[in-house]
Order: sequence, then C-alpha cells, then structure tokens
Amino acid sequence: MEGWQKQLANRITTVEQLARKIKLTEKEKQEIKKVTGKFRMGISPYYLGLIVQNDPDCPIRKQAIPSINELTVRKEELIDPLGDEKRSPIKGITHRYPDRLLLYPTYQCASYCRHCFRRRIVGRADKTLTPKETAEAIDYIKKHGEVKEVILTGGDPLVLQDKEIADLLGKLKKIKHLRWLRIHTRVFVTLPCRITPKLVKILKSAKPLYIVTHVNHPKEITPQFKRAVSRVLNAGIPVLNQGVLLRGINDDVKTMKELLYGLSESGVKPYYLHQCDLAQGISHFRTSVRTGINLLRQLRGFISGMAIPVYMIDSPGGFGKVPVGYNYIKSYRGKVIRLETFRGKVIDYTEP
Ligand code: SF4
Repeated sequence: MEGWQKQLANRITTVEQLARKIKLTEKEKQEIKKVTGKFRMGISPYYLGLIVQNDPDCPIRKQAIPSINELTVRKEELIDPLGDEKRSPIKGITHRYPDRLLLYPTYQCASYCRHCFRRRIVGRADKTLTPKETAEAIDYIKKHGEVKEVILTGGDPLVLQDKEIADLLGKLKKIKHLRWLRIHTRVFVTLPCRITPKLVKILKSAKPLYIVTHVNHPKEITPQFKRAVSRVLNAGIPVLNQGVLLRGINDDVKTMKELLYGLSESGVKPYYLHQCDLAQGISHFRTSVRTGINLLRQLRGFISGMAIPVYMIDSPGGFGKVPVGYNYIKSYRGKVIRLETFRGKVIDYTEP
C-alpha cells in the first residue's frame, strides 16, 4: 500500500476515533455523533495533524470537525444548491454551460469539508460510476461536439486509483472535440502525498490539463502542499485555486491577503473566491456578500492584481456563476466615465 492509500484507509470517520486524537468534551462528542448521523465525517490523518489542539478557532478544525450548527437548516438552503441533478442528462454528468460539462467519476474525498456544497452526496460509494456508466458518460460527451472542456470533479477524482485515472483520461483524450481537460481536487490540501511521481506522469499524458485546487486558509499552505504543487507545475500543468469565503476562517483582510500571497508564491493562481453556497446546514460559514465585496475592495490595488481572484456567486438552482464586485465606475456622462481609483480618488476618463 502506498502512503496515500494508507492515509485514506486510516481516515477518521467516527467520534470514537476522533476522541483518541483530539481532546473533546462529552458535550462535543454527543454533538458530533448527532451531526455525523446526517452529514458524513472523514478526515485524513495528515489534515487532522494540521489542527491546533485546544484552539476552538483553529481554521482547520472548523473545516474538518462537525459542528452542531450543521443541524440548523435555514429556509433558503437547498439540498442540491447548484441544481447539479436538474442539469444532469445522464448519471455522472452535469451539463450547465454551453461548451463545458462536469463529470463525476466518484463522490469520495480524502476529507469531507464541513462547508461542502455537495454534502448531500459526498462519500456515497453507490454513486461512483461503474465501468458501464462511465462508458455511457463518455458516449454522451462524444455525441456533444459543442463540449470543449470536461471538468473532472466529484467528490475528488484524484482519490481514484492510478489505473482508473489513467483509463479515464485516456478515453477523454481520444475525443477530438475536447480542447483541454480540467480536474477539481482538494488532495493538495488534505492528502498532498497523493501527488506521487507516478500520478504526475499520468496527468502529464493528458495535457493540456488544468488542475484547480481548493485552499481556504494560509495554514493549508504547508511544505507538503508546496511540494505537491511543484511536482505538477514542473510537469507543465497549471494550478489554480478556487477558495470559499468562510466566516471566521478567511473573511478578514489579513488572512485573505496571506492566503493570496501564499498561493501566488507557491505558483498557484487565485482563480475564484466563492460566496458560500446555499447548501443545507452551513449558514454558520456564510458571510454577507457585502463582506466579500468589501474585502476584495480593500485588496484591489494594495496587492498584485495577479493574486486577486474573481468573487463569484453560484446562482441557486443551477443557473450558473455570477461575478460580483465593487463598482469602480461612478457615472457615465456622454463620453466621460467617472472612475474611482483604489485609493478613492475620483477621475474622469474620456472615450473617443
Ligand atoms: S473536497 Fe470538495 S467535494 Fe469533497 S467534501 Fe470538500 S468541498 Fe466537498
């Protein structure tokens, strides 16, 4: 068994296992038990090791260990917030946008994020595609010439075995109308030892390929994370990040700045910052949209524009992502556009 496979086999999935590693009060144990009755827990030993004991505000703890707040479901929250199933023409595919689609080979992840937007389904073994279902999904893609990009997501596609990944990528590479492939994965954060030289070789054979990670806090940028990123970058595969704006975790300027610096320095381009979706039981993670807009406004101009992600709200019901942000255009008067600079100075720009 390789190191990453041992990590997966030794994931912490019960409160009893967790209590052997982390100090928990009786009340916490009872609460975790209740929550895990509804939403799965799974924490890789590596990710658990990043938790600072005795710190209730530890950002890793908040993302990994269930909280009783998860049992509070608000009326605006949805089981399937992004309408993945509504836009699914066939098992394993969501086809929401004209030129790209999502393919879910598995719903297993190395660790289950407490803020997961697919919490209704992650970890369900019965949802992993069988070889027959995979063949049908590939067939669907073959028949849709308008699809230029397939995004492997889940779950986490990189928890599959090397051979399964190689087979799937190999089949997709043969489809001539696909221009490039993309993989959404959190193993860089929760299981960085998964990025083995052998896996990198497989990924390299599927170029042009983009990897999109999911880092939310500077504490997740460890030497192991950086090594995993370097291996992939050295193979000529770009790495981007989609983070989630999380209350009490990264919704302050200091933390967000450090996160964006840390990512850029590691060679990871901050791509999107997501407003927390309307998934059930995660309202305690959700900030206001105004908080997010204000946060990015305080960074624009003060840190490199290259390090600033686009703030996105994924519209409830599956209608697609909407970019949101501060409006620097103050007025249009004929050909004169009044602009506000990052320092608040108002200037006019005259169009031809
Ligand atoms: S890695 Fe992604 S799919 Fe898996 S639990 Fe976290 S947010 Fe959900």
